[in-house]
Amino acid sequence: MSDSYSVFIMDGGKPSFFSKWLAKQYKRDDPIGDLAQDAKRDPIAPWAGDVSDWESYLRRVACKEAIETFYEAVKERQPKDKDPYLVTLSRRYDVMKRDKFRCCICGRTVEDGVKLEVDHKFPKSKGGTNDPDNLWTLCFDCNRGKKAKLLSDDTGDF
Ligand SMILES: [Zn+2]
Repeated sequence: MSDSYSVFIMDGGKPSFFSKWLAKQYKRDDPIGDLAQDAKRDPIAPWAGDVSDWESYLRRVACKEAIETFYEAVKERQPKDKDPYLVTLSRRYDVMKRDKFRCCICGRTVEDGVKLEVDHKFPKSKGGTNDPDNLWTLCFDCNRGKKAKLLSDDTGDF
């Protein structure tokens, strides 16, 4: 059989940060190693997904220790705020944690089947910053609804 690493690579795709991280944990003899081994066999593990897919997957299957270790790895890898508009993974996580992993508009969580996103309350296109005060957790539906509303408000006198 192939080695553990290749299992984490999507067919035809580049390994995601998440799959590389899991592959590194594979040989650990602790709950994080167990997580990596379980994930390897898990057909719904989000190999090619984006950050919010990994976050919601980990929150569903992983122990707190594993999630923290993952975020440590993420923090080490983040460039130091080169792009002032880049919301770093660790900041996204801090915002979601502050908002208790719930949508700030409808209150739903990943357990309700929604995908959570970190959004700028005041859009960055209009000068909104990445300050945590300007960031909040929204579900996919509410975030799309909010953006549609902002666009239509551009022509009105909201
Ligand atoms: Zn919502």
